[in-house]
Amino acid sequence: MNNFENSYGKLPENFYSITPPTPVVDPKLLKWNSTLAEELGLKFDSLAEKESIFSGNIPLNGTPIAQKYAGHQFGQFNPDLGDGRAHLLTEVISPKGERYDITLKGSGRTPYSRGGDGRAWLGPVLREYIVSEAMHSLGIPTTRALAIVSSGEPVYREAKMPGAIITRIAKSHIRIGTFQWFSATSDFKNLQTLLDYSIKRHYPDAKTTAEFLRAVCLKQAELVAKWMRIGFIHGVMNTDNCLISGETIDYGPCAFIDEYNPDKVFSSIDNFGRYSFTNQSKVIIWNLAQLANSLLILHENEADTLDEFQEIINEAAVYMSQQYYIQFALKLGINSPIKKDEHLINELMTILAEANADFTNFFSSITNETKPYDFMNKKPYLTWEKKWHSRIQNIPKAKETMRQANPSIIPRNHNIEKAIQSALSDNFDPFYTLNEALKNPYNYIEKSDLTKAPGKDEKVTATFCGT
Ligand code: AMP
Ligand code: MG
Repeated sequence: MNNFENSYGKLPENFYSITPPTPVVDPKLLKWNSTLAEELGLKFDSLAEKESIFSGNIPLNGTPIAQKYAGHQFGQFNPDLGDGRAHLLTEVISPKGERYDITLKGSGRTPYSRGGDGRAWLGPVLREYIVSEAMHSLGIPTTRALAIVSSGEPVYREAKMPGAIITRIAKSHIRIGTFQWFSATSDFKNLQTLLDYSIKRHYPDAKTTAEFLRAVCLKQAELVAKWMRIGFIHGVMNTDNCLISGETIDYGPCAFIDEYNPDKVFSSIDNFGRYSFTNQSKVIIWNLAQLANSLLILHENEADTLDEFQEIINEAAVYMSQQYYIQFALKLGINSPIKKDEHLINELMTILAEANADFTNFFSSITNETKPYDFMNKKPYLTWEKKWHSRIQNIPKAKETMRQANPSIIPRNHNIEKAIQSALSDNFDPFYTLNEALKNPYNYIEKSDLTKAPGKDEKVTATFCGT
């Protein structure tokens, strides 16, 4: 039990700052993810011990660190990033032999805090817990949430809010931005060290820089295609929020699409729709090109490397498109799509956009063979439906494929918002209920309000970073 082992903290000092969390006055455990704790082989003696550790009041294993990174934020390079309100407590080796970071977020200022207070308030912490755990249950690679501890201290945003700390579990926190940091400072030696460390930790089969780059490209393209299959908009796909491991990270202004609109943006700071629903598949390629660019300086004297990396990025764009169609074909019961299916998918998505159809409930309805919407009885849809039915009629287990690709419940923005509002009046029941309901999203058969699209007054139109 509690098989801790720190490897990142043994890297050279340019990788991080040794910095303890700032203690809080009155830590109270609001949520403990016992299933995850068990998966990680974690055991603690008492509630008080958990409250002290996961508030940052006492160390878990060795010296906590804040990781240094840089990154492109909305296309602008910022060399001054790093964990400004997060502390890597330790790594744990799970009983299955997998290594994970255990990190606090909202645990106080670090040398990378810039003007920030190093804290988080309860709302974004609950949001990250709900959405990251839901993503896991939906089968999307993601960081996880182990614990929420309230700090007993206020955090000042637009108003005075209750402070909280979330414990995040990740395969690692190495970002594209971590590579950018060493590349931008022409720190060849540490860049090579980071590359070697990343290969060893995540892609042990990669023998060259190019193989590493290609492996990250595949993982990220698959990830974004899976996001899109469930209508997820990350909202802030900056290169510092893009993990080498291919897990989703940073549930800030993220949101799920209700009615389908390919250009949908929720984030209040995404003025130009850079990270809109559809743009995600383009921006990820842009981000991967930044990784390629960072790695190039390790191969400056090799004439072919630029061409080779360019080719990998070009292939990544093709692969991204293939992955998108593979994921959407599953939603229609097609498990080995052919080129023609792309047209079938595009046609449907145009119909859905024109009908303002609820993304999740539409796919759920065709999985359950119901027709709750008017447009489903009108000509454009009926014509499409005929083509679709003839396409899948001879596919064995098409319905089963659909059932595994189309969730009936997702963490809808208005329900998250209700859970947060209620928690602010000390009633955590909606938070607990929502979490429970999201544990089995493909087999959720209850007819609860949680599956309903938001009413006019319930619609969340904008989300915020929560910093
Ligand atoms: P994010 O938008 O969460 O990806 O954060 C972008 C950068 O701002 C990272 O370097 C964070 O560590 C930093 N940051 C965000 N919020 C805070 C805060 N309240 N205090 C200090 N740093 C922060
Ligand atoms: Mg971030």
